[in-house]
Amino acid sequence: MRLHTIAAIPADGIGKEVIPAGLAVLEALAARQGDFALHVTEFPWGSDYYRANGRMMPEDGLDTLKPFDAIFFGAVGDKDLPDDVTLWGLRLKICQGFDQYANIRPTRVLPGLTSPLRSVSPGDIDWVIVRENSEGEYAGHGGRAHRGHPEEIATETSIFTRVGVTRIMRTAFRIAQRRPRKLLTVVTKSNAQRHGMVFWDEMAAEVAREFPDVTWEKELVDAMAARMVRTPASIDTVVATNLHADILSDLAGAVAGSLGVAPTANLDPERRHPSMFEPIHGSAFDIAGKGVANPVATFWTAAMMLDHLGETAAAAALMTAVEQVCADGVMTADVGGTADTATVTAAVIAAIEGKNQRS
Ligand code: NAD
Ligand code: MN
Repeated sequence: MRLHTIAAIPADGIGKEVIPAGLAVLEALAARQGDFALHVTEFPWGSDYYRANGRMMPEDGLDTLKPFDAIFFGAVGDKDLPDDVTLWGLRLKICQGFDQYANIRPTRVLPGLTSPLRSVSPGDIDWVIVRENSEGEYAGHGGRAHRGHPEEIATETSIFTRVGVTRIMRTAFRIAQRRPRKLLTVVTKSNAQRHGMVFWDEMAAEVAREFPDVTWEKELVDAMAARMVRTPASIDTVVATNLHADILSDLAGAVAGSLGVAPTANLDPERRHPSMFEPIHGSAFDIAGKGVANPVATFWTAAMMLDHLGETAAAAALMTAVEQVCADGVMTADVGGTADTATVTAAVIAAIEGKNQRS
């Protein structure tokens, strides 16, 4: 029996609803597959923890997480706390502390869902967006001067390093290489951002020589946003900076039907540290506490986590179950259904159990 240790951090808002749903589904899967087990430890970190302790996680939180095989994360964000406090205090602390430099964001229109793009038919959208997750615009460098004065100035400095850019390029080329079309689009803004982005283009060309079987092209980020809407079928694998890919992947989530179905993995591809798996969406103040959050993003995220842990059969079984439930129309309101979180979760568990009875 293979055993994997999981640190679960639901954190805030609908994170507290979708992570328990994800854990229930994972438990059902492990029980049905019978050849692996998950040992889950839950950590009550986040905004409530902040109110009680003045920090989003304990000072030695990273040491606590380090021995785990993977981290299963909900979302941060609280109406009464500044977003930069909640984000930097927990999610970014883990991403940066564990050097999870590759953020992987697959996008597909699941069966039963409709893209808001009129021209999209099933199969037209099958993308993987690779987001640089350790430097760039979110490196945290910058400053403020002359606060409150007319000459007030604020800077936000993007940092790009040879190590940082080449390693994300390599990760993206490797992912593209494993996909049928072997096409990588390198997104920059090198017409306007003449330093960091020209550097990205140069590093792409350098790394591309190691992957002669991958076709690669350059696209400016604004043109890429338009292309995602106008000719989505022309896109396969995409690599972009922390900020550019953050924005493009929310667009990708929307184009695929809803942010409520979009998953992500924060990987340390070298596996020096645990990687972290989370739905792309945030804590969703508007629906938190109502039991109506779409758990599909979290289920897909759980499948990515299983893949990373080597449980590829379980990951595939989970996606089959999710697709079956979506195709059956058991969906939450954000994708046009009437089911709540618990109903979708129960349907996915039933599909997992049914599927295994047939096989
Ligand atoms: P959000 O992702 O929380 O919500 C955006 C919209 O999408 C809302 O209308 C919400 O109801 C809907 N939505 C999101 N997930 C859904 C789901 N699973 N099912 C159904 N509908 C869903 O983004 P926001 O409103 O910009 O931010 C709210 C808070 O979350 C902020 O504090 C923000 O900083 C934080 N945030 C955190 C993360 C993260 O933890 N990784 C990511 C994004 C935003
Ligand atoms: Mn985002």
